[in-house]
Amino acid sequence: MIEILSPTRLPQARRTGALVADVLATLKGRSTPGTNLLDIDRWAKAMILEAGAVSCYVDYAPSFGRGPFGHYICTSVNDAVLHGLPHDYALAEGDLLSLDLAVSLGGVVADSAISFVVGETQSAEDLAMIEATERALAAGIAVAGPGARVGDLSHAIGTVLSEAGYQVNTEFGGHGVGSTMHQDPHIANTGRPGRGYKLRPGLLLALEPWVMADTAELVTDADGWTLRSATGSRTAHSEHTIAVTEDGVEILTLPEHSRP
Ligand code: MG
Ligand code: MG
Repeated sequence: MIEILSPTRLPQARRTGALVADVLATLKGRSTPGTNLLDIDRWAKAMILEAGAVSCYVDYAPSFGRGPFGHYICTSVNDAVLHGLPHDYALAEGDLLSLDLAVSLGGVVADSAISFVVGETQSAEDLAMIEATERALAAGIAVAGPGARVGDLSHAIGTVLSEAGYQVNTEFGGHGVGSTMHQDPHIANTGRPGRGYKLRPGLLLALEPWVMADTAELVTDADGWTLRSATGSRTAHSEHTIAVTEDGVEILTLPEHSRP
């Protein structure tokens, strides 16, 4: 299903996006060496409930997971890249952490993910990998707008990731967003320009490039949820929710200091 948001709902979509961005920024600030992933989950829950929002994750039970998820945020550390199930683990100096959060507020969902290195010891390889996913995300957003096709976005994202030296996995990618978290169209992280669904005003899309340092193959953790790189290599993931408008796009999940 593809949902088109009425223009009158755009202010609500902005409020949801700002909430997701603010929660992620707060959690990033608190993710220091020694912080437990279960504390991050607890803080996420408190902020979501305080805002009157509804978690998209806690009852989420898709075919690929051992659902329901039972937590409020995905915490993926080092070789974990997607759907990281919060567990009793204290972050260490130099850990590469990805936080992925989706909530519904006022009936509209926003979905965003950030990756960063914990503490002061930050490897150049990790920073380059995170930066590649952020650049790929920006490239996808740059070609989005009314009339653009999904393949244009996929191609832009995939080109940046490939040129940065990463293999692209096509099992999980971006997606439409609306009253629920995962909708059509699917937006693969590589593809051919000029193909696929034509974007129109009112469409909300989550774009989410992610990579693993030396492989495109995933393995599922024994917890039934967390997806890790098959080689044990480190990973990164960046995601924004955007709204297609009459004359371009608006990024709904920008951190406060970057908002227009
Ligand atoms: Mg997400
Ligand atoms: Mg998503």
